[in-house]
Amino acid sequence: MAGGDFGPRATKELLRQYGVIAKKQFGQNFLIDARVLEGIVDAVNADDRTVALEVGPGLGALTIQLANRARQVIAIEKDETLRPVLGGVLAGRENVELVFADCLKVDIEALVSPFLQPVDDFVFAANLPYYVTTPILFAVLESKLPLRRAVVMVQREVADRMVAEPGGKDYGVLSVGVQYRGAVKRLFVVPPSAFLPQPGVESAVVLIDCERRPDDRATDEEKFFQVVRAAFSTRRKTLENALASGLGVPKSESADLIRRAGLNPSVRAEALSIADFVRLAEQMGT
Ligand code: SAM
Repeated sequence: MAGGDFGPRATKELLRQYGVIAKKQFGQNFLIDARVLEGIVDAVNADDRTVALEVGPGLGALTIQLANRARQVIAIEKDETLRPVLGGVLAGRENVELVFADCLKVDIEALVSPFLQPVDDFVFAANLPYYVTTPILFAVLESKLPLRRAVVMVQREVADRMVAEPGGKDYGVLSVGVQYRGAVKRLFVVPPSAFLPQPGVESAVVLIDCERRPDDRATDEEKFFQVVRAAFSTRRKTLENALASGLGVPKSESADLIRRAGLNPSVRAEALSIADFVRLAEQMGT
């Protein structure tokens, strides 16, 4: 791959040269496997119309590959101490905008919007820090930015929940939340040996294709997510009981709501499709 060797030896040397010690509290597990990087970059499928947002560039391994293909890369890194190494690795890359900030505290829309033209291909790519995977993912997915696709590395069990279908044990708020935004596919599993330092768990790369979102849309997304959270608030209960406690309403009211949505009050949340949740949300407050 053109632009930077991030194999194990080169990465150790880079860490030594800049006096960087990987910080556990920032979820720093740097990618050192060229094949995995290539797999991510292929899935991102950037070209000269693409604007790519990366959260957590780390030492810049993925950033460089994105910069080789995309028109513009915006990379947000929380760890200020990586400024010298990123400055060195990305020197001369004029299409990379490096921002040192906590991506959960910055206005991502305001940051990215100036780089977007109406016809732009806007994508999100990240090897996400495991301790804040879902807040970061949702900060991007729920923004008003015209996201076409996201390619993210997450813990394998998080990936399993993202792609889970109704009826399975992994199906829950995360599955519905992500699948509401796009078609989700687990691309490949990544072993701990692909990182330095090695995490204690397996990882997986997931593609969210936002151009293939489900047709069922909620008129009021806030209500939609409120009902989804309430439905899954307690696992073993029937939908009637879960919605009653999750929404803080009497059981007669939750049962009525469920029936108006064409569902059986004794069904469990795990069995409901996105279309079912949309119908439930449409019946709320009517
Ligand atoms: N992209 C690099 C790679 O693949 O080698 C590093 C990935 S490492 C798993 C996660 C990165 O996210 C770290 O560089 C970490 O400092 C950064 N990070 C953690 N929390 C963050 C936050 N809230 N906002 C921005 N960056 C964050």
